[in-house]
Amino acid sequence: MNEVIPSADRIKIQEMIINTNQIIRRHIWGNQTPKYQKLVLDWHYTAIGIHHSGNRGMKNPVEIEAFHINEHQWDDVGYHYLIHPDGSIYEGREIMYKGAHISRQNTGKIGILMLGDYDEQWWDNDDELTGEHLSKLKCLISTLKSLFPIKKLGGHREFIARDTGCPGNLLMSVMDNLRKEFKLNAPS
Ligand SMILES: [Zn+2]
Repeated sequence: MNEVIPSADRIKIQEMIINTNQIIRRHIWGNQTPKYQKLVLDWHYTAIGIHHSGNRGMKNPVEIEAFHINEHQWDDVGYHYLIHPDGSIYEGREIMYKGAHISRQNTGKIGILMLGDYDEQWWDNDDELTGEHLSKLKCLISTLKSLFPIKKLGGHREFIARDTGCPGNLLMSVMDNLRKEFKLNAPS
């Protein structure tokens, strides 16, 4: 049977993540309202997938919102959290709902977007991975790991190599250290 109504406990945990990491809530920064009736509940998260904005290097969450809702025709932003290089964290799709960030494998996976372009390519402007950016990611992973039975952490391309270089070589270069620090495994 599908779970239809999120429990009070889940709402409490969702808020705990927001408060611990001083995350800017979806309804505060967003221009559009998610189609909540169409979102699917998910909760038993065991993996975290890390993404970057890619070659457009988008750093404004509103651009991601427009990209996902207007261009892809999705019901909401696909990622659960979006982290800006300045350290701001934006709530994307509420954690009680299944994300849309790893093709046909979203169940049980939390999606985190590192805003910017972390591929090293000579033909476009790449971003540097700043200490502030990385430390906010670590704080968020730490909170999520304390609340969910997370076992795996990986870059998007490690979950599904086809079609994507996401999250770029710069972010991939820190992935092993992140896994070591948080005692997590790579996606198999
Ligand atoms: Zn990705």
